Amino acid sequence: MKKNELKTEFLLFGLVVLTVIAVIFREAILGTVLVIDPRGDYNHTFSNGVLLGGNTTSEWLSEDQSRWRCSLDKGDYAYPFCGHEIYLNNSFKQGIDLSGFRTIKIWLKYQGPGRTIRIFLRTYSDAYSNENDLKSTKFNALEFEKNLISDGVLEVNLADFSVADWWLLERRIPFKHSYTDFSNVVIFEIQTGSGSFAGEHVFELDRVEFRRQLIPAETWYLAIIVTWIAVILIFLFYRISLLKREISKKNDKNKKLQELYDILDKRANEMELRSKTDPLTGVFNRKGVEDSLKAALDDWHNFGSRLSIVFLDIDHFKEINDTFGHSVGDEVLIKLSALVNDNIRAEDWFARWGGEEFLLVCRNAELIEAVGIAEKLRGLIEMQDIRAKLSVTASFGVASIQKGESLKDLFRRADEALYQAKQMGRNTVVSSSA
Ligand code: GH3
Ligand code: MG
Ligand code: MG
Repeated sequence: MKKNELKTEFLLFGLVVLTVIAVIFREAILGTVLVIDPRGDYNHTFSNGVLLGGNTTSEWLSEDQSRWRCSLDKGDYAYPFCGHEIYLNNSFKQGIDLSGFRTIKIWLKYQGPGRTIRIFLRTYSDAYSNENDLKSTKFNALEFEKNLISDGVLEVNLADFSVADWWLLERRIPFKHSYTDFSNVVIFEIQTGSGSFAGEHVFELDRVEFRRQLIPAETWYLAIIVTWIAVILIFLFYRISLLKREISKKNDKNKKLQELYDILDKRANEMELRSKTDPLTGVFNRKGVEDSLKAALDDWHNFGSRLSIVFLDIDHFKEINDTFGHSVGDEVLIKLSALVNDNIRAEDWFARWGGEEFLLVCRNAELIEAVGIAEKLRGLIEMQDIRAKLSVTASFGVASIQKGESLKDLFRRADEALYQAKQMGRNTVVSSSA
């Protein structure tokens, strides 16, 4: 595995871990909790019907435990009650904004004859409140049966609150202000419930918590999904671009290899051609004609295709060398080779056999045809002004292969014919009659 891939594996693993954390600890990450500890630095008051002339009393049993008692006197007035008010911001006008919170959780113990308990979240607003009137705060109210407190805890939604009817009616609140409002809660209050049960009511309020979520769960999960889709897309694009790069690299490499191969191939061909070519005259050397000789012999054996050879030897070449110099001798060799090469059939092979002696392999040629070719060449050499003031001639020995004959025998006979041509005075074609 490559280093880069390992890096992406780590990144993906990290993201998986983050996702698991984001799902499992969603509430802990997103939730905010506002805790009200009644033993804290809050102003408290007890409210009851005393102001209306009744005998109901309220008193602390233990401030440390936030425990208080209400002795409710039924004879007070129409609806006697006891309440405990906590000023959340120690101000009657300036409270705290709870509008973003979803739930309220109350740790409360209650002993007494009452069946229900009321809680109020009282909001101050210039629209309907005034500083000199304690009851002018909006009474966002919730009344619940005491049995609903399980294990000393009750959790309810703020949406379950409603504005107390008596407050709306007494205050003649217009409809537009008749809905709950938690934007500036100044007082949290616990009261005895409806029914005004006479007797001793003991409340112990341990703490109050308001909870909210910064982002709704759906948005949170959607964000996780969108993140994953984005990561997968980025990952895919990244992989594709890596692959593309790798492919183009490989293509480049292949191209270079192909170029190198072509160069080597060309070189090899050149080398092979050079090894089969006579450097001075540019015609084949012995090696260059060997393959075609073997192929021609096979054709003769297998298909009976005729095979004839012609030996060509320049006459008195030594004299040319001796008289005009070696370089003139070379020039004669070059020009004569070119002349012969230009005047043979396409299927004939012409090679320098050594020194000033040449071999012509005539494929598919009867003896008589080969003699004809040799005669034509002899005439051309004789006629051609190969070099000014220099008469160049050549002698020819021709032989055609016979049944059961080896190449060696064929060459021997052609050589003998050439020898005869020399004997006969040169510039002559002699064929071996086997
Ligand atoms: P003949 O008519 O009997 O063939 O006589 P010749 O002189 O042609 O034959 P000989 O074998 O006596 O001499 C051949 C000469 O060819 C000898 C050698 O110096 C010369 N020779 C061989 N190769 C080369 C070459 O590459 N260049 C030159 N200039 N001369 C060469
Ligand atoms: Mg010779
Ligand atoms: Mg010679």
